[in-house]
Amino acid sequence: MRRVILVGAGHAHALVLKSWAAQPADEVELVVVAPVTKAPYSGMIPGWLAGQYAFEQTVVDFEQLCQRAGARLIEVALVKLDPDAQTIWLSDDQCLTYDWLSINIGSTLTPPDSQATMLSMRPLATLRTRYEQWLTDWQTQNPHTPLRLTTVGAGAAGVESLLCVRGFLQRLKPEQAIEARLITRAATILPGFSQPARRRALAALKRAKVTVELGTDWSDTIDQQTDLVIWATGAQPHAWQQQAHARGRLQTDQAGFIEVDETLRCRSHPNIFAAGDCASLPTPAPKSGVYAVRMGATLATNLQRAISAQALATFTPQTRALALLNTGDGRAIASWGPLGWQGRWVMRAKDLIDRRFINQLSC
Ligand SMILES: Cc1cc2nc3c(=O)[nH]c(=O)nc-3n(C[C@H](O)[C@H](O)[C@H](O)COP(=O)(O)OP(=O)(O)OC[C@H]3O[C@@H](n4cnc5c(N)ncnc54)[C@H](O)[C@@H]3O)c2cc1C
Repeated sequence: MRRVILVGAGHAHALVLKSWAAQPADEVELVVVAPVTKAPYSGMIPGWLAGQYAFEQTVVDFEQLCQRAGARLIEVALVKLDPDAQTIWLSDDQCLTYDWLSINIGSTLTPPDSQATMLSMRPLATLRTRYEQWLTDWQTQNPHTPLRLTTVGAGAAGVESLLCVRGFLQRLKPEQAIEARLITRAATILPGFSQPARRRALAALKRAKVTVELGTDWSDTIDQQTDLVIWATGAQPHAWQQQAHARGRLQTDQAGFIEVDETLRCRSHPNIFAAGDCASLPTPAPKSGVYAVRMGATLATNLQRAISAQALATFTPQTRALALLNTGDGRAIASWGPLGWQGRWVMRAKDLIDRRFINQLSC
């Protein structure tokens, strides 16, 4: 019996499990290592922050996916890897050896210490508890004291989360004054979005009375003027990926993302694959769910091919992808190449795409 271990309940592994259920490899034990069995799907998380979805509607059920694929699920995190010894160590002190390893653990954020409540948008697995706890406390607070809300990072996650949280809080307490600001050290909001989409997002922020401060860094002064921080700066690798003693001779880029070739195979160890945010591709691709999903199909094919010693398929990131931004008011903004749209119909389309993704993984 050979052993394949999938580490992480990411988008790509959800697709690997779906494909494995339809076509399992003979004499291979499939093991999944993930600290959460209900993995939040980030595309719908801003909608949940806005009160548009129940949390349960936004998760991919890995327990069910593993059952259908005949995989053994171990509910812990990987903490250390020795790629030369083909061994991983888990947070419950277990260690496991593998024949093939696939890593799809997403990315993280490292917000600074703050006097304000820090709502970091990563890890998503703990966001529910943190947001709900803060909401409960906030609802008992005096509505006549303005709430000072600062979002750090003006990429899609920052802009979307801010608009969704702000809209939801205002609906919960219509009499509450909310002073919202969006700060970014960049010279523009939504880098990579089309000009028309950016213009519409700026107008949505203006309607929501959000002050946008470009070229601005988080500082102690801003911290002192804030009650709640939404931390949504760029994707970072997990701590173990940055530590030589925890990742062994696994090849990473300077930041700590795992370097793979165009087949998603690790450059230093051919029996390790990586996909999604945690991987560093030969042709750089945005750290986004759209790309992680696209890698999932190639990863599923290549794990099967690697097991049966066949030639691997290559992954070429698409040059442009449709980006959809929930503005929390029943509408959404779309960006595609140089084009941009906004409206309720865009939100209906986004809702349909997101639900279809979750549904295809649950039947
Ligand atoms: C608020 C927000 C909204 C977003 N909206 C969109 C969007 O609309 N469209 C889009 O394309 N992108 C969006 N993104 C970006 C998107 O979330 C990521 O690019 C995407 O989730 C990456 O997918 P992944 O498969 O690499 O990993 P993820 O989906 O992040 O999954 C990683 C999994 O690995 C697990 N894991 C982590 N560490 C370990 C470990 N040590 N051991 C085992 N398991 C581990 C985690 O618990 C998690 O289940 C958004 C991001 C945020 C923060």
